[in-house]
Amino acid sequence: MIIILKENPNTEELANLKNMIEGVGVSIKTVEGKHKNILGLIGDTSVIDIETIKAYDIVENVQRIQDPFKAANRKFHPENTIVKVEDLAIGGNKVQIIAGPCSVENEDQIIETAIAVKAAGATMLRGGAFKPRTSPYAFQGLHADGIELLLKAKKATGLPIVTEIMSMGHLDIFSDVDIIQVGARNMQNFELLKELGHSKKPILLKRGLANTLEELLMSAEYIMAGGNSNVMLCERGIRTFEPKTRNTLDISAIPLLKQLSHLPIVVDPSHAAGITSLVEPLSLASIAAGADALIIEVHNCPKKALSDGAQSLTPEQFDGIMKNIKKHVEFMGKTIG
Ligand code: PEP
Ligand code: MN
Repeated sequence: MIIILKENPNTEELANLKNMIEGVGVSIKTVEGKHKNILGLIGDTSVIDIETIKAYDIVENVQRIQDPFKAANRKFHPENTIVKVEDLAIGGNKVQIIAGPCSVENEDQIIETAIAVKAAGATMLRGGAFKPRTSPYAFQGLHADGIELLLKAKKATGLPIVTEIMSMGHLDIFSDVDIIQVGARNMQNFELLKELGHSKKPILLKRGLANTLEELLMSAEYIMAGGNSNVMLCERGIRTFEPKTRNTLDISAIPLLKQLSHLPIVVDPSHAAGITSLVEPLSLASIAAGADALIIEVHNCPKKALSDGAQSLTPEQFDGIMKNIKKHVEFMGKTIG
């Protein structure tokens, strides 16, 4: 971090600023210019808040040179993180295909869908028990009963389960869940992220609807700073001016996140597009861009779905796209499962 000082700074304020910086273990190298001086900060500046420094009248500008995220940063952890879920690995040369309905609705629906996605080659089962809906009058999920049904589907198929948490008060109910999803709307629910940092569960962290990659990485940092390094980053489309798709899949996020971070990348083409016909091309593009996993909505009867029917594939459609997904995964020198 560098701090550019205004001309002729007040000496008392300068001493206060330096004391504050050195007080957190960061050392200072002063570069004297003809008119202005620059303070070069050496050490771990992630603990320093830029806004606090800007609050000093003597400061003209402050610039970060290093990324504010450390634990998630590839610079300090060059090798890929591989998240283990039972005998499956997310990251490295394995690709996982997570499939299932948007919401768990009843026992027949989740078991039938789970059996169908497994037969088509899915390696994990998704299904929401707590649903973040725009309308309070829309179906909100079956809550604890939904998780019980997911566990039954896991027993029937052997597929590990992924489901979304919306409140830290519910953590107890998630004890048998294999991967806890933090949805787009909760990406910056910092108290929830901190709580998940104390757990050892793999966390699938979705990018917020209008969040930058740095904000996504800072949210991952919240979980990792608490001691949980089993974090996967999920690109699920961001809100843009284009109304023809539900969101816009940010393909460049995949290789960029790979450069910036060692964490595995999951892509959700279903929420990105909002349309079934785009799920296959977006899945293939994501695999080509380096995704470590896909999370795809599949419903045994999309017309009857209580949420996200328009973007949910039928089991037959999913079976169809899996053939091409498998080819693309192999082309990338990876394997599913
Ligand atoms: C979901 O996975 O069903 C979901 C609500 O996703 P997102 O948080 O990405 O909107
Ligand atoms: Mn959904």
